[in-house]
This record gives sequence, C-alpha cells and structure tokens, in this order.
Amino acid sequence: MLSDTPKMTEHSLREYVGRSDTDLNGELKSKLSDRQKKFKYSYATSPKVAFEKECRNYHDFGESAKLDNKYHPAYPHGTNWKCPACNIFDNSASYCIV
Ligand SMILES: [Zn+2]
Repeated sequence: MLSDTPKMTEHSLREYVGRSDTDLNGELKSKLSDRQKKFKYSYATSPKVAFEKECRNYHDFGESAKLDNKYHPAYPHGTNWKCPACNIFDNSASYCIV
C-alpha cells in the first residue's frame, strides 16, 4: 500500500435555479459558472407557471443553503405573484426584480 491518506473528494457541484421569460441562453450564460457545466431546463406555458416552477425548484433543491441562488426567486416587475411554497412576499412587499 502506497498511502492510506483519504482521497481528495471533489467539491460537489452547486446548482442554480433560474428562469428566463425572454432569453434562456443569455440567462444561463450570465448565471452559470465554470463549475456548472450541466444544466436542466424545461419550458413553461406562461411566465407565471415558470415563476411558480422556479420557486418550487428553489425550495425543493435546498434553497440558498444548498443552491448557488443567494436569494429567493423574485417575482417579475409589475406582478404581485406569490410563491406557491412559502409566504416570503407577504413579509416584504417590495421584493421584486426591476
Ligand atoms: Zn418561496
């Protein structure tokens, strides 16, 4: 036996949950880092469905603790859509993307 030191384990890949209502390619390029070579995507029938899916994914995949997302997904400017999985927007009415 040459060595009994434990093998270095590769850092696990962090995932990022996101959506794009207009430009998925641009969104991916702006959000994905070099470590994130793989991504999954799905199409939604409307921006609202996409938003709700993004929220559910964010919660299902471990929120900011496990994801590269620093914050809860924001609802699109000009809407008052609510997260289907939590009540974060009830506590911060001004939380939205501009
Ligand atoms: Zn939520």
